[in-house]
Amino acid sequence: MINSSLKELAAALAAKKISSVELTTLFLDRIEKLNPTFNAFVTLDRDKALSAARAADERLAKVGAGGTAAAGPAALTGIPLAHKDIFCTAGWRTACGSKMLANFVSPYDAHVVERFNNVGMVMLGKCNMDEFAMGSSNETSHFGPVKNPWDITCVPGGSSGGSAAAVAARLTPAATGTDTGGSIRQPAALCGLTGLKPTYGVVSRYGMIAFASSLDQAGPMAKSAEDCALLLSAMAGFDPRDSTSLERPAEDYTRDIDKPLAGLKIGLPREFFGAGMDDAVRAAVEAALAEYRKLGATTVEVGLPNSSLSVPAYYVIAPAEASSNLSRFDGVRYGHRAPDYADLNDMYAKSRAQGFGDEVKRRILIGTYVLSHGYYDAYYLKAQKIRRLIAADFAAAFRDCDVIMGPTTPSPAFKFGAKAADPVQMYLSDIYTIAVNLAGLPGMSIPCGFDHGLPVGLQIVGPWFGEARMLNAAHQYQRATDWHARMPETMK
Ligand code: GLN
Repeated sequence: MINSSLKELAAALAAKKISSVELTTLFLDRIEKLNPTFNAFVTLDRDKALSAARAADERLAKVGAGGTAAAGPAALTGIPLAHKDIFCTAGWRTACGSKMLANFVSPYDAHVVERFNNVGMVMLGKCNMDEFAMGSSNETSHFGPVKNPWDITCVPGGSSGGSAAAVAARLTPAATGTDTGGSIRQPAALCGLTGLKPTYGVVSRYGMIAFASSLDQAGPMAKSAEDCALLLSAMAGFDPRDSTSLERPAEDYTRDIDKPLAGLKIGLPREFFGAGMDDAVRAAVEAALAEYRKLGATTVEVGLPNSSLSVPAYYVIAPAEASSNLSRFDGVRYGHRAPDYADLNDMYAKSRAQGFGDEVKRRILIGTYVLSHGYYDAYYLKAQKIRRLIAADFAAAFRDCDVIMGPTTPSPAFKFGAKAADPVQMYLSDIYTIAVNLAGLPGMSIPCGFDHGLPVGLQIVGPWFGEARMLNAAHQYQRATDWHARMPETMK
């Protein structure tokens, strides 16, 4: 059961081979046993999870005995799921990896959480993450680092590292993540998973604690593209409570998954295949491209001439938005408040000094600086112009291809501490993923090989709303290969 696909779990539940309570218990027991090793979950509530499972079993009973699984998102009823602790969950603590919110119990559900609750998925718990989703290694979490199930001396990636480790160690069939500059794709690559960041605006950000609002998107992290397609169909959709949510008809993201790949045109950006990539990553990505050619795809070189500017532009825009978003944490209405202070200003200063960790403070300082009078034009406005050029590069590239492929990360998982002292080195972990966020495009990572026992990820980028095509490309590759089905030894 722990290695079953969502489709298989849905079939087992519909055929009454297992109940949701039994399935939920199985995963809760695994979490109890293995979470002390991985630190993937930060909040658990067995009673709440089991009562949701009982409700799901009642729903399943009404569907009829010995039935087949429902079509679409309704098939997910009774299947357990874990949420990144950035999503507000009514009655559950929502700490966002920070001391600032370590005592915060959300009064409402995020849109994404609501969508999964409505189809009857069972929340197992909340997953560890980098503080306010700022990081690439999970080392900035107030709740301690998450261990990579493939090698517990290595990071799982970040910021959705708890979600990634939880799925990789089979502590949950699937999880949610968020991706501002790579935080779904990078940990998916480092933990051997499939993770998808949708087109900006496809999934509502309501109730998702804001980091950089013009970049943040929620998406699924799971064992396969087929699982991600099912989950995305459940989580995507218009929501009037998010002003950047797009009003588009609902989509079935599994609709193209079985189509053959003959004729698929894959663009290979020359900038993604230059220096800076590990040899082992290059070899795995090249082998994956050879497999795609065998499946009938053709490859064509494309250019993304401004991509070298994506990391610098991101580290102006994202901190600028973060400094504004995080100004709400002032110790007044909720979150950490300093126990001793002289007056109101002192209370603000002490609460924020005590509540935020170093990386968050660094971003707030950078963001405040680039937005300040006299620097705004030189930094923020310039970065916005570069952002537009990066989006135009992708639009031009997609005139010659259907999807773009390349590495997700320059190297496989690194050791704890390897980059923690050098923020710029850490920021470069997202060198291949960040441009995709700046352009608002959909992107995903799928496992394509190993280097010394550590997974390597292949990144697939689509044009706006190209999710179904990307999922088709990923699924056909996963039918031909078994990288995605391998499991780390430590999960046993
Ligand atoms: N690693 C990047 C950062 O630290 C991206 C994080 C994310 O996507 N949330 O900002």
